[in-house]
Amino acid sequence: MKLSKYFYLDDLTKSNYADKHDIENIPDNEEVVKLKDLCFYGLDPICEHFGKLIVTSGYRSIELNKALKGAKNSQHTKGEAVDFVLKNYDHYKACKIIEASFCFDQLILEPNWIHISFKFDENRREVLTRTNNGYVKGLVKP
Ligand SMILES: [Zn+2]
Repeated sequence: MKLSKYFYLDDLTKSNYADKHDIENIPDNEEVVKLKDLCFYGLDPICEHFGKLIVTSGYRSIELNKALKGAKNSQHTKGEAVDFVLKNYDHYKACKIIEASFCFDQLILEPNWIHISFKFDENRREVLTRTNNGYVKGLVKP
């Protein structure tokens, strides 16, 4: 199923961990609608600007999120969040541009990926960086 110009449902639900451990990872209809919004409003504009991004973790069923030790109530379980990496583009610099010009609910610069979430009607525009001392507000250059 195509979700947006650049993404298929498979891109947002595939999980090696889920496959390996036989964990079901299928979003319901409401979650698919949220994934469409996330892709259309959040991810497609990022692709247009930075080139194709690689999703490392998208939708997670409650069971998968638990197994991966994700945060309780993680937006990944609602179809609102995605982790991705950019090939050939510095993540800190990319986050600076995303913060300034793109649409998101929460943007987190993680050591090895970027976490971004999108909500259709109430985006908080919260920006965090995970450092050695935990999460801090704003973008911190690694
Ligand atoms: Zn994440």
